[in-house]
Amino acid sequence: MSAGLRVNVTVVAGPGRPAWCGRCKANTGVSVDVLGLFPTGVTRISKVSVCEVHDDPDDQEDRRG
Ligand SMILES: [Zn+2]
Repeated sequence: MSAGLRVNVTVVAGPGRPAWCGRCKANTGVSVDVLGLFPTGVTRISKVSVCEVHDDPDDQEDRRG
């Protein structure tokens, strides 16, 4: 038998908000909150920012500054 505690967690993406893109130097980005819906409430797990203009999933590693 499994003694593991089973917790239902649903991960959802919140509504997108306009965000500043330091690369395009314009408000071309979209910031999305990643939310975890726990039985005890909603917790923000992470925040993801993407840019509509230079949207490039392979280029997430560029350092700021
Ligand atoms: Zn951009």
